[in-house]
Amino acid sequence: MSKQLEELKNRLQEVEALSAAASVLGWDQTTFMPPGGAKARGRQLAVVSRIGHEKLTDPMIGRLLDELEREFADLPADSDDAALIRVARRDYDKATRIPADFVSAFNEHQAAAYQAWSSARPENDFKAVEPMLQKTLEFSRELSGFFPGFDHIADPLIDLSDEGMTVEILSDLFQQLRDELVPLVHEIAAAPEIDDSCLKQHFPGDAQLEFGKKVIRDFGYDFERGREDISPHPFTTSFSIGDVRITTRIKENDLTEALFGTLHEAGHGIYEQGIDPAYEGLPLADGTSSGVHESQSRLWENVIGRSKPFWEFYYPELQAVFPAQLNDVSLETFYRAINKVTRSLIRTDADEVTYNLHVMIRFDLEQQLLEGNLNVSDLPEAWDARYQSDLGVQAPDTRDGVLQDVHWFAGRIGGMFQGYTIGNVLSTQFYTAALQDHPEIQDQTAHGSFQVLHSWMKEQIYRHGRKYAALDLIERTTGGLIRAQPYIDYLKMKFGELYGLS
Ligand code: ZN
Repeated sequence: MSKQLEELKNRLQEVEALSAAASVLGWDQTTFMPPGGAKARGRQLAVVSRIGHEKLTDPMIGRLLDELEREFADLPADSDDAALIRVARRDYDKATRIPADFVSAFNEHQAAAYQAWSSARPENDFKAVEPMLQKTLEFSRELSGFFPGFDHIADPLIDLSDEGMTVEILSDLFQQLRDELVPLVHEIAAAPEIDDSCLKQHFPGDAQLEFGKKVIRDFGYDFERGREDISPHPFTTSFSIGDVRITTRIKENDLTEALFGTLHEAGHGIYEQGIDPAYEGLPLADGTSSGVHESQSRLWENVIGRSKPFWEFYYPELQAVFPAQLNDVSLETFYRAINKVTRSLIRTDADEVTYNLHVMIRFDLEQQLLEGNLNVSDLPEAWDARYQSDLGVQAPDTRDGVLQDVHWFAGRIGGMFQGYTIGNVLSTQFYTAALQDHPEIQDQTAHGSFQVLHSWMKEQIYRHGRKYAALDLIERTTGGLIRAQPYIDYLKMKFGELYGLS
């Protein structure tokens, strides 16, 4: 190995170590830290992040990358070293193109916008955050400008979390989805409503947690290299390939909250635990994009965890945990209840069919704002109009309307939502490819065995970490581009049967 490559690895490992240290501080902050620690923790996190940023943007890394790109120009693209150089270049450019002044001004603004949103949302007061959001839009446009060479102003912002995805690719994909989903939702709304009252009984929290842990252990989540705790918003965080942690939250009057939160985060966790140990401490040891990451949480949560074969095996086990609540509830009733479709106002509560409509509304509004075709002051009306046309519902207030998600108020406008729908689409695209190789997967699911599915995902996706950019990974794994059709087929088949549609 060349001396320069060794030097680059050493430096990147320091950056990763600092980033992992910040993750530990952040994990503790949202799980076990007493409230009195908040102020100091904010300061500690800021210091660790600043040192990490300084180390990553050290001009020496730029010089090493210049030399290595020359020295290793002939390496096959699928060699680990070539991948490391490519990924390190991407991270370095991203970190250096955005001026430090801009980063601190935007961070400060985001903290203020989040504060304003936290009080404006319960007060239903969009006007109170409107000037903040206007400023966020200006920052977002400026951020986009640091990355020239893209076709659309939103493309660099999308690329930050979903490399290679563009407004053009996604608009086409989303249009295909919307053309199928809007009529499907209308058909379902006209069908008899599903009764999900069996899920709304009292279910003691500890028993809920234990059941969820048992299931994800069967999926292949490794508790020797992970743990599950409670936090207000479920998340996954990785400190190393040997320590990937998840959280969930419990509602004792709703069986779905903790369970599906656990299955979802375990999907993210299984991905990170499956990365090749040779990448430990390097920037390759991460998921390759937010959409591919979400494909794994959605695969284990929905494609597997809300499927009939899965519950044929696990429902008797769940009944044994909650006999008083579920012994009189049939498998069919339970399966229908966990898949009930509701035209609701809130994205995070949405079912598999309506979820993507929520995402697309946000995605389109982001483009219109960035393009200057929609004023921030007109956003609430535009929001309501789209909910009316796509979902047939209208929020009685902005709290459950345009103010419901934190993303635009704690982040930026542009590139914040597409990963959720990309993930849903890819979950079935990958699953369909796995089934083609191993048709026995469905039967194994009905016996509580996931080894073949897990191994396939690990071999094709997990172990590579960031080695392949998302579009390359999709091509290698499924032989083409991202495609809406497998997902549309999946939804039509599953929900057509559930709702007795023709
Ligand atoms: Zn997720």
